[in-house]
Amino acid sequence: MFCVECGAEGPTYDGLCAKDFTRKHAVVRAPEVLDVERCASCGSFRFQSGWSKLDRDLAATRLFRERIPVERPFERVTFTFVAREEDANNLALTVKAVGRFQDLESVQGFRTRLRIKPSLCDSCQKQRGRYYEGILQVRGEGRELTPAELRTIRTFVVARVDRNAEEGAFVSRMEEVHGGLDFYVSTNALGKNLAREVADAFGGSVTASPKLFGQKQGREVFRVTSLVRLPPFRVGDVVRHKARLAEVVAVRPFVVLRDLASGEERRFKAKEVRSARRLEAERFDARIERPASGEAIAIHPESGEGRPVTPRPKERTARAVVVWTSEGAFLSALPADASKN
Ligand SMILES: [Zn+2]
Ligand SMILES: [Zn+2]
Repeated sequence: MFCVECGAEGPTYDGLCAKDFTRKHAVVRAPEVLDVERCASCGSFRFQSGWSKLDRDLAATRLFRERIPVERPFERVTFTFVAREEDANNLALTVKAVGRFQDLESVQGFRTRLRIKPSLCDSCQKQRGRYYEGILQVRGEGRELTPAELRTIRTFVVARVDRNAEEGAFVSRMEEVHGGLDFYVSTNALGKNLAREVADAFGGSVTASPKLFGQKQGREVFRVTSLVRLPPFRVGDVVRHKARLAEVVAVRPFVVLRDLASGEERRFKAKEVRSARRLEAERFDARIERPASGEAIAIHPESGEGRPVTPRPKERTARAVVVWTSEGAFLSALPADASKN
């Protein structure tokens, strides 16, 4: 075959040799400037398909593909570029576009500018407006959450939401109320998922109550409050249950109470022990003394006070973890630091 332009012999493309073909056909229509909005809050870029969190170089490549028209007959165009930052929002780009036609690859170099326009993405806009749809409530069953529990749950929820941030999930507000926590979250589904995750991680039960909130485009809009109730007790608590003193040795899937006088363990559903009441108690590793009377006496490590231990520890036990209440000292089945946090 001969090139109709220069007469060179060899493969031709639409009658032209490769050199003349690429000279006559541009790969793309190079723009002088590309403008893109970037969210000033989360850094997402706005593409035709919506907001997306990409790093700047990936965002630029995606913009080229979206915005730069490919000239026929080239196809499967790929872009590479080098950026020089004029300032944070203005980049001078040197771009190479490689287009393909049959077995031909043509490279076109051009310069353009990327101008970044600070803006606010949809999800940040909603967040700033304190927008929320669902509410996640975390409460203790018949008790206030401890400061350590409040802290742990707050961290847990924020970490879960961050992991979802790509889909625009957010917590617009967090409040500590009635010894528990309220999270105002972007969607009802997010509230429900978080409730399940909190219950899986910390124990407890989940209930959801939708409330009609209003109408949006003729559709009823509900706000769902998802409530997690954490177990009434924590491992290490000392409780009075039906006139017996017991220590809590497990809270899920069942509450297990160990009778302090007999050492016997029984398991209950959370609602079966709703009437149990927590008592002030200490738990520590105590020295055991055995006076001539044959009793075993636990010695309080700080006050030095002695109290008979129930049930009586084995002969020759010199130390034991005991539960110390106003009613006496009892052998514990838990480590001395079981209820510290
Ligand atoms: Zn030619
Ligand atoms: Zn944003």
